[in-house]
Amino acid sequence: MIDFYNTINKKKEKFIPINKDKITLYTCGPTVYNYAHIGNFRAYIFEDLLRRTLEYAGYNVFQVMNITDIDDKTIKRSIDDGVSLEELTNKYTDAFFEDLDKLNIIRAHEYPRATKFIEQIIEMIQKLVDKGFAYQTDDNSVFFRVSQFSEYGKLANLNPDDMKIGDRVDNDEYEKEEIRDFALWKGYKKEDGDVHWDSPWGKGRPGWHIECSVMSTFYLGSSFDIHCGGVDNIFPHHENEIAQSKCALDDKFVNYWLHNEHLLVENQKMSKSLGNFYTIRDILDKGYKSEAIRYVLISSHYRQKLNFTMHRLDDAQKAINKLRELVRRLNEVENSIDKDSNIDEINKNFLNDFKRNLYDDLNISGSLGALFTWANKIFSLLDKNNLNKNESKKVKAILLDVDRIIGIIETKDDISEEEKKLILLREAARKNKDWEESDRIREELSNRGIIIEDTPTGTIWKFK
Ligand code: AMP
Ligand code: ZN
Repeated sequence: MIDFYNTINKKKEKFIPINKDKITLYTCGPTVYNYAHIGNFRAYIFEDLLRRTLEYAGYNVFQVMNITDIDDKTIKRSIDDGVSLEELTNKYTDAFFEDLDKLNIIRAHEYPRATKFIEQIIEMIQKLVDKGFAYQTDDNSVFFRVSQFSEYGKLANLNPDDMKIGDRVDNDEYEKEEIRDFALWKGYKKEDGDVHWDSPWGKGRPGWHIECSVMSTFYLGSSFDIHCGGVDNIFPHHENEIAQSKCALDDKFVNYWLHNEHLLVENQKMSKSLGNFYTIRDILDKGYKSEAIRYVLISSHYRQKLNFTMHRLDDAQKAINKLRELVRRLNEVENSIDKDSNIDEINKNFLNDFKRNLYDDLNISGSLGALFTWANKIFSLLDKNNLNKNESKKVKAILLDVDRIIGIIETKDDISEEEKKLILLREAARKNKDWEESDRIREELSNRGIIIEDTPTGTIWKFK
C-alpha cells in the first residue's frame, strides 16, 4: 500500500514490514554539543512525517533515535567551555527536546545515549575483532577492515577509488591498513581530557558509527524495517553501520534506507560565516511561530532540496491561518436543513487523493495541493450557505484527521494570558464606543504579531 524510495536499491519499492504489528524504525539523532539547526530539523520533521504516515496507515511504529553524547565535537566543546561532558550534553539534549515539542514532532519511544552503551559497544567491537573484521593498532585504537566486507560501498553506490576520508575520520590515523578503514574504538589522546573508558584494547572511547549499529540493533533486533537520516549520513556513516552490523550479527540489518535531502538557506549552504545559520530559537526570536517553521519544513518532498526563506515562513503562516479559518467557519454553521451539496463525493475524492500522494513515497506536496483544492471547495459551499450542520461536522472531522499527518491545525502555539486579556479589554472598549482605546490595543497586539478581526460571532485572532 505504501511505496518508499529505498536508497540501497535506488528505486521505489512496496513497503513490506517484517512484522506488520510493529514497524521498527531507527532515526539518527543529534550530536548534542550545540543547538540543532533548522537543517537538522528538516531531517527530524521528515522522520516525523514518515512516522505519522505509517501510523495513519494503521501500523504500530516503534521508533528509536540515538543521542550522540560523545565524539570529537562534544569533547572539544566541553573542554573549551570548562564544563563536564555530561553537563554540556545534558544542556543540549534538553534544548533538543524543547525544540522537538515546539515543532510538534512526535517523540520516539527511546532516545538512547551513546555513553550509556559503552559495554555493548565494546562487546560488538570484540565480536568483529574475533571474526577477523577488525584489528588493533599501536595507539590502542581498533579499525574495521573494509577489504573483508565485499558489499562495502553498495548503499552509497561507490567504487573503492571514490572512498575518500569522511569528515568525521581523523586525518592522523596513520596506522590503518587501508585508507578506507574506519575507527571502531579510538585510543586515548590527551585532547580527550578526562573522557575515557577501559576496554580490552586499553583506555579510549567509541567511534561514532559503532554507536548506531549497537543502539539500533539493541532495541530493534539484528534485522529491522527502516533506517533514516540526511543524505550526508549515507557515506560514510550508514555505509559503515551496514558493514559493522552485518559482519557482527550475520543478519540483514536494514530493509529500507530513507534519506532526506538538504535544506539550503536563501539558496546557499547554511554556515555561520555566511550569516544564514539558524536554530529554531533564532527564527522564533524574529517573531515567527514554530507552527510556520513546521509547515515550511514538512511541505516540500523530502528527497528534494528545500530552499528555506523568511518569505516561505510568511506564506506558511497564511496557509495555516486559512485552515484554522475553515475550522472556525465550519463551527459557525447552524442550519440543519438538508441540502444537496454532493459533499460525500467531494470528501471521498479528496481523501483518496490525499492518501494516494502520501503513500507514494511521502509526496506531501501533492497531498497538500489536494487539501487546499478541497478547502477552497468547502469555503465556496460555506459562502453559498450550502452545508448543513451535520455535513460541516463531517468536514471538520476530516480536517482534524488530516491534521494527524500535518500537525499544524491543532498545535500548542497560543497567545499569552496577557494577550488574551488585551483582546477582552478591546472588546469592552468597543462596547463603550471608546474607539481610541480599541485602536490602541489593536495596534499593541499587531506589534506582537497578532491580527484581530471582528466577525458577526465575536472577535477572533490569528498570527500575522
Ligand atoms: P548531525 O547532528 O550532524 O549528525 O545531524 C543530525 C541529522 O541532521 C542527520 O540526519 C543529518 O543528516 C541531518 N542534517 C544535517 N544537516 C542537514 C541539512 N542542512 N539539511 C537536512 N538535513 C541535515
Ligand atoms: Zn547514526
